[in-house]
Amino acid sequence: MTRDAKIAILGNILFGDPEETEETIKESIEWWLNHPEYGLNLLMIMTLPDATIYRYAIANGLIKNKLQYVKQEFPIINLTRLSDRRFKEICKFVSNSSKDERYFTRGKVIYSKKEPEKRNGKDVFSIKIECPECHNVSEYRNMLQLSFDKYFRVICRDCHAFLRVKTKECFSENYTLYNILNNIVILNMIRAGRLFIMRYSVTKSIFYKYPIFRLISSKIGKLRRIG
Ligand SMILES: [Zn+2]
Repeated sequence: MTRDAKIAILGNILFGDPEETEETIKESIEWWLNHPEYGLNLLMIMTLPDATIYRYAIANGLIKNKLQYVKQEFPIINLTRLSDRRFKEICKFVSNSSKDERYFTRGKVIYSKKEPEKRNGKDVFSIKIECPECHNVSEYRNMLQLSFDKYFRVICRDCHAFLRVKTKECFSENYTLYNILNNIVILNMIRAGRLFIMRYSVTKSIFYKYPIFRLISSKIGKLRRIG
């Protein structure tokens, strides 16, 4: 309905509530794969206090230590009757779904030019992107590069489909050796470090025990996003 009216929306498909089964997962994923034009995100449901599923998790012994659960910032827990192994597979699929090129609609960059003026000390670009859904070419002026992630999202100005476009194709002149080292290499090292910490319960408990680690980690994360 919103699509027919050309209204842009942002939506999520949630996985992992207590009623989730192999069938409902299959159904959701198939629908999502057949409708990339809506640009919906896949997410695992978060068990937040004092939601019904939170009370369900307490009643069923899935959260044993409430304080620890809050301190760990509400990790995803298996509320379903699926095995933990299968549940982890679903989590992995869901978390990779936003990055996997097979699953999103790509806009085609047909023009990109660095403008003479700057905003907040950063170069601004004019970019034209073709939408594969309606073939309209949208022009985006005063664009700033917000991250060095491989893709970023824009909305087609005509049909309002969510499109991913390659950051490098839009802001190629920002990809100097200095920026690549600073923003891609170091950032990926920090991400790998965080991933390592979160993977093992021993390192994870140390990480959560000493707030200084979390502070440093979030500060660096913020700096990278701004820089
Ligand atoms: Zn379009």
